[in-house]
Amino acid sequence: MKLLEDRIRTEGTVKPGDVLKVDAFLNHQCDVALFDKMGEEWARLFVGTRVDKILTIEASGIGIACVAARHFNNVPVVFAKKAQSINLDGEQYSTSIYSFTKQKEFPVIVSKKYLNEGEHVLIVDDFLANGNALNGLLHICETAGVIVEGFGIAVEKGFQGGGDALRKRGYRVESLANIRTMNAETGDIEFNS
Ligand code: 5GP
Repeated sequence: MKLLEDRIRTEGTVKPGDVLKVDAFLNHQCDVALFDKMGEEWARLFVGTRVDKILTIEASGIGIACVAARHFNNVPVVFAKKAQSINLDGEQYSTSIYSFTKQKEFPVIVSKKYLNEGEHVLIVDDFLANGNALNGLLHICETAGVIVEGFGIAVEKGFQGGGDALRKRGYRVESLANIRTMNAETGDIEFNS
């Protein structure tokens, strides 16, 4: 999506450790008009696909998922919560996710009330790097018995391989910007078309 690629080129900064900072419009300040265009694009890409619910993970996924839902008949958005610890009371689906940016493992939970067996789910997130976050959400979806129709991702760092691993497993991954290379010294960013 050219609009998103242009914003990444002009406002994104490449940090050491393969981290792209896009706080100006995605991860701190939110450009709602851009989110709306992103939602419109996912709706175009997933046209004809049954989507009963959008699943994301806090915090940055929530804003984009909520705006995207407006383009999917206002389906509910459920976000996985980052928990302090996993409460084994049977009321929640839980898993543990390794964070690329924080470099530590953390538990995430979704209440059993909000994911029901047989529902068709679109998973939305801001970034896809190694795929740990999405694999965690997939694990929760498998346990819940929901059907994952695909992934709507804002920024995929293609060189980290998480997206292609999901595609190899047969999942549909629609990333609106897919980074081929980025360089912390020069600030150069190249996209896969
Ligand atoms: P993964 O689990 O695929 O390795 O990483 C995805 C998660 O890590 C995303 O939910 C996002 O929060 C964070 N993340 C990974 N890489 C980046 C990055 O380059 N920039 C930012 N802002 N977040 C990232």
